[in-house]
Amino acid sequence: MVDIAAFLQRQQKDARLRRLPGLDHPDGGRVRLPEPDGDGPKAAGADQPESAAVGHDLLDFSSNDYLGLTRHPMTLVAAVDALSRYGTGAGSARLMSGDFDLHRQLEQSLARLKDQEAALLFGSGYLANIGIIPALVGRHDVIFSDRINHASILDGCRLSGAGLHRFAHNDTNHLEDLLKRRRGKKEALIVVESLYSMDGDICPLAEVVELKQRYGCRLLVDEAHATGLFGDKGAGLLEAQDLAGRVDLVMGTLGKALGSYGAYVAGDRQLISFLLNRARSFIFSTALPPATTAAALAAVELLAEEPQLRQELWQRVEIFKSCLAQGGIEADLGPSQIVPLTVGSNQATLDAADRLRQRGIYAAAVRPPTVPAGQARLRFSVTNHLESDDLSAAAAIIATELKKSSPGG
Ligand SMILES: *Cc1c(COP(=O)(O)O)cnc(C)c1O
Repeated sequence: MVDIAAFLQRQQKDARLRRLPGLDHPDGGRVRLPEPDGDGPKAAGADQPESAAVGHDLLDFSSNDYLGLTRHPMTLVAAVDALSRYGTGAGSARLMSGDFDLHRQLEQSLARLKDQEAALLFGSGYLANIGIIPALVGRHDVIFSDRINHASILDGCRLSGAGLHRFAHNDTNHLEDLLKRRRGKKEALIVVESLYSMDGDICPLAEVVELKQRYGCRLLVDEAHATGLFGDKGAGLLEAQDLAGRVDLVMGTLGKALGSYGAYVAGDRQLISFLLNRARSFIFSTALPPATTAAALAAVELLAEEPQLRQELWQRVEIFKSCLAQGGIEADLGPSQIVPLTVGSNQATLDAADRLRQRGIYAAAVRPPTVPAGQARLRFSVTNHLESDDLSAAAAIIATELKKSSPGG
């Protein structure tokens, strides 16, 4: 039997105990912390260092709502309209009576966005990955998975029972080496993310596509953090690199840049109808609520109608990164809207996150097992909810506070 108390104590001692932050959301781009008991609100007064936000409202650098679509007038109207027409839930799974016109419209519009023949919705990205992977490969097959792939991919791999070979992050030489030795004669699946969620770096997709073809594997690309942001249409990195036609399946979520909830996978018609028949997390789970689906549909339409949303985001990312550099941060800030700053130990990272919180900045402290031991970090994601002034003020504070964490500083 697992010793629950000992587990919790150990997590606490290693600064790994997870707790709900207890937030409220006064506005897009701001989170509000609960007031500390007893001594009333800690105003940004004389004895407080200069803060990036007011009172208990902190700038939210943890949200994946990159384009700000959770609060866009068009997504709100679409959701409210669907809510009043269809009610709050779908009532059952798609293959029962939970299939709505809105679901099929969204699937068509995602397939078009991703330049694929068809798409299939899932309840979430986690459910998509643990459904898709075991549908494609089983006990006698093999999977080649990037070592830092999202937990949902790893869990899907484990659930499939296939032999799992993890290659060093973004290392296509290592991938090829494993393919040479472990490909075998059965089904083989390669899984990568196009933009990695914790490191904010980009997969060498063209090389992976080369290898998939040379070694006769299927390729699944997770575009959770790239969808909506990259490419002329905002489809993602496969579009940006003109590779959409050369992958078997692409999945993504509706809960990040698309501002809603749920996920999808897109590919050719046959593969999608195979998944509809085989992916257990699709078959045995209630369909997405109509309002959520309508909001996502409006969001996909906005990618075409308001391309300036992407331009605005990239301008903000540029401001944030250049202000960090001006503040003396020398680390490579990466190619995307996700900016990781490695601190090192768990405790130092939590302390840095705490100091930032006191100065009005809310950023995720990412610790093992999400990242390798000794590489705990603060992860900043830039969204359109943050104005240029917010971003430059925050960057100056972040640079100052992180210098206090570095071994020499
Ligand atoms: C967030 C994420 C998921 C999971 O999606 P949810 O809809 O949040 O369950 C899957 N893969 C990657 C790479 C992600 O970042």
